[in-house]
Amino acid sequence: MRKIGTAPIWATTVPMEEQFPFLKEVGFDCVMLSYFVGDDIAPLYNGAIKAGLEVCNIHGPISTVNSVWAEGIDGDDYIEIQKERINFCHSAGIPTVVLHTTFLKNPPPVSDIGIERHKRLCDYAENKGVHLAFENVEPYPHLDAVIKNVSDFHGFCWDVGHNNVYAPTTDYMAKYADRLTAVHIHDNHGAAWYSAPEMRGDKHWIPFDGSIDWEKYAEKLNSSVYDGPLTLEISLGASEEYKKMTFEELAVKYHKGVSKLREIVEKSSE
Ligand SMILES: [Zn+2]
Repeated sequence: MRKIGTAPIWATTVPMEEQFPFLKEVGFDCVMLSYFVGDDIAPLYNGAIKAGLEVCNIHGPISTVNSVWAEGIDGDDYIEIQKERINFCHSAGIPTVVLHTTFLKNPPPVSDIGIERHKRLCDYAENKGVHLAFENVEPYPHLDAVIKNVSDFHGFCWDVGHNNVYAPTTDYMAKYADRLTAVHIHDNHGAAWYSAPEMRGDKHWIPFDGSIDWEKYAEKLNSSVYDGPLTLEISLGASEEYKKMTFEELAVKYHKGVSKLREIVEKSSE
C-alpha cells in the first residue's frame, strides 16, 4: 500500500514541532518539511523522527528564485542557499528537495545563466545523492527548460492543485511521467471566471473539498514511475471551515481525505 503524508498543519494553536506524535497516531507515515530562509529545521526534523515519521522531502526557499535567471549576486546567493538544504538532506538521509523555478508573475525570461546555475546546483545535489524535484506553479517555460537541461537523476514535483488552477489543459504526466519524484496534493475549484470569486484560485483545500477529478488523477499518477507517498500540502487560509477546527480535528480530516484518495489510487492500479 502507498504511504501517506502531509506537511505539518500551518496556523493552528499547536506548534509544528509538537504535532508529529498525533499525526503518527492518526495514521500518517511521513511528513514534508519547509526549510525556508530563517527556518530552524532541526526541531521539526527531530520531532518527526522521534514520533516515528519519515521525512520524505523538504521544500527549499522560493521567494528569491527569479534572481537565478538574471545576472548578479542574488542569483548566486540563491544557489548557495539551496546547497545548504541539499547538505542538510544529505546528512539527514532525506531523499528529495522540492524547488520552484519561478516565483509569482513576470519572472525574467529563461536565460543561459539561469540554466547554467541550475545545472551546477543539480550536479552538486547528485554528488550528494539528493534528488531535486522542480514543481509546477504558474505555467512559465522555465520549468521545462530546467528539467530538459539537468540530469535525469532529478525530476518533477507534480502539484495537482496548481495544475488545476494555473494550467488546467496541461497534462504534466504526458510530459514528466518518467521524471515524477514528488507530489503535492490539494484541492480547489480551478480558476474559472464563472465561479464566485471566493471559490476561485489556489485554495490548498483537502482532497474532495474542491472539484479536482481524483479518478483521473489516480490514473495519471499510476502511469508514472512514482511509487512514493501521497503527500498533502493544505492551507487553512482559504477556508473559514478549516480555521474554526482544532488541530486534532484537522489532522483527522486531512487523514480521511488522503486515505480516500489512496483507495482510489490503489484501485485504479489494479
Ligand atoms: Zn506545492
